[in-house]
Amino acid sequence: MLSVSDTQAVILDLVQPLDHQSETEVVDLFAASGRILATPVTSNLDFPHWDNSAMDGYAVQYTDVKHCSAQQPAVLEIVESIPAGYQPQSTIGQGQAARIFTGAVMPKGADTVVMQERTSQKENRVHIFAAPQPQEFVRRKASFYQAGTQLLPAGIKLSAAEIGVLAAAQCPQVSVYRRPRVAIFSTGDELVTLDQPLAAGQIVDSNGYALAALVRQSGAEPLMLGIVKDEPAALQKTIADAIANADLVISSGGVSVGDYDYVDQILETLQAKVHIRAVAMRPGKPLTVATFPQSPHLRVGLEEQSPPAQASNNEKVIIYFGLPGNPAAVLVTFLRFVQPAIKKLAGLAQGWEVEFVKVRSHQELRSDGKRETYVWGKLQLIDGVYEFHKAGGSHSSGNLINLAQTNALAVIPVGKTLISPGGEVEVLPQNWV
Ligand code: AMP
Ligand code: MG
Repeated sequence: MLSVSDTQAVILDLVQPLDHQSETEVVDLFAASGRILATPVTSNLDFPHWDNSAMDGYAVQYTDVKHCSAQQPAVLEIVESIPAGYQPQSTIGQGQAARIFTGAVMPKGADTVVMQERTSQKENRVHIFAAPQPQEFVRRKASFYQAGTQLLPAGIKLSAAEIGVLAAAQCPQVSVYRRPRVAIFSTGDELVTLDQPLAAGQIVDSNGYALAALVRQSGAEPLMLGIVKDEPAALQKTIADAIANADLVISSGGVSVGDYDYVDQILETLQAKVHIRAVAMRPGKPLTVATFPQSPHLRVGLEEQSPPAQASNNEKVIIYFGLPGNPAAVLVTFLRFVQPAIKKLAGLAQGWEVEFVKVRSHQELRSDGKRETYVWGKLQLIDGVYEFHKAGGSHSSGNLINLAQTNALAVIPVGKTLISPGGEVEVLPQNWV
């Protein structure tokens, strides 16, 4: 049985990102939030575009004001007023100043801005009561960014800040990776859809819905293949359908050692390479990870208009995740292993691995010490310090009810059996609510 960290390493090694040339699309900047940039962006504009004022005040020559004080103010002649958006008309000479406003272009001759609060204006003269620093409150042309250098690298997720930068650089559209397609299906004779009446022994396929939400939140597009009976023929047909139409496949259920757990057997029939069958974690021990070679002739509906990508040295594969059926195990294994794989597949250049933060545990947390144990709960800010509060109720992996309203998973490492109240614990913060 592999450790959690070895499992993560094996999985990330198997994932090949989408092709940065052929598996991309152009989107309007307004629709680009959350997408991953496929091509580096360079601008031919400097930022700032020209020297400009960082304050409302007066543009002056530093030598005219460097010795002034409240007792001996410098008195300068105002030769122009420059609001934002206008080109200055005059050159500031010795003994002169221009009234200037935030963001306005610096006039020739001036090298320093004196903030309005340190001055007083009388008709066309300004009295300056405090010496500024040389070049104070001047934003120099190209001091934020130099034209022709890289503005944004490929492989980053576009959020508000990056979208603002792209707008400022006059990019109305951007090239982003297409969203990976993730096939999802649920296995089990006990499962019905949520609109069906529940007969004895039946439960609703909630995993399909939870997984679709997780896949969307991870920036991918779910392809819902529904419920599949615990029958080899039905499973085989669905898996074949999934690998023909998706970049990554997730099933839940059927990977344990029960008589009706057929997934591993069918994967072998379909000649998948099975890399992982079990992980030393709780919940989530039965976990199957397999790969299928990507066969272009099967990939109907995914054909790109552009010519096929150059053959790469790294074999491209479709990754199959057979998650356990229990709802808590589905969430934990998705967050721990599937989400990093989707991030890498989606073109993100780095930051695929999950990141834990150290916080204080509100109550004691226990484990048998043999498997890495995940406990769900809520991070709460107590007197400015984050504290982990374990969810109340049963921590059975079959209980999905008390997962609601949680926002973090705490991890108890192998070899540790107890975290005391107030003790340090590592948590994986999540926004699944
Ligand atoms: P399995 O891994 O197939 O043995 O499933 C373990 C348990 O998980 C089952 O007994 C069900 O209670 C539960 N389960 C399996 N699939 C689902 C599903 N799609 N939605 C909700 N619960 C499920
Ligand atoms: Mg089952």
